[in-house]
Order: sequence, then C-alpha cells, then structure tokens
Amino acid sequence: MTDVTRGVGASIPPFDLADPPEEPPDACADLRMWAVARELLAEHEPFEGSCESCGTTDVPCEGSTLAIQGLQVACGVPMATGAFWVHLMQVKGEQDSR
Ligand SMILES: [Zn+2]
Repeated sequence: MTDVTRGVGASIPPFDLADPPEEPPDACADLRMWAVARELLAEHEPFEGSCESCGTTDVPCEGSTLAIQGLQVACGVPMATGAFWVHLMQVKGEQDSR
C-alpha cells in the first residue's frame, strides 16, 4: 500500500480537501489567509446535506467551495480565485491598521 497523502515534494493539494485541518499545514505560506478561509469554511459546513448559511441543499455550497480554494491559495496553490483572496487579505490588513 502506498500512502498517497505523503507525496514527495510539492504535493498538491497540501492537505485533505474533504477534511481540512484546523491548524495550517507546513505548506501554508499565509497563516492569516488560512484562518480567514477556515472560518468561512466552518460557516458553510453542511449540516444534514444542506448549508444553513446559504440556505441550499446544493452542497458543497459556493461559500464552502470558495473557502476550500482560499485554503489552497494560502498554501501557495494557484487558484482561479487567488487574486480575490490576495485582495481580501489586503483589505483586511488595511482595516486592521486603522
Ligand atoms: Zn454555504
């Protein structure tokens, strides 16, 4: 048996997409982005086949899909929504420095 989760070198994705850990993995390059995306994912955790935040039974919902992508962007994985996440963190950074 080969453990494919322990790949050599750049394993993409660097964590279990179906069950992302609470704590950022070693591959995580942006701890703040991870925390924000992880929080979003928690808000969109499906309960009995539906997302209460989105009010949809179409799971994984868009919020959860976006959050999963954010977790990957935080780990340096190129994603279509990468620019969004970088921008979001810039906005949040500006808010914090006020
Ligand atoms: Zn949702």
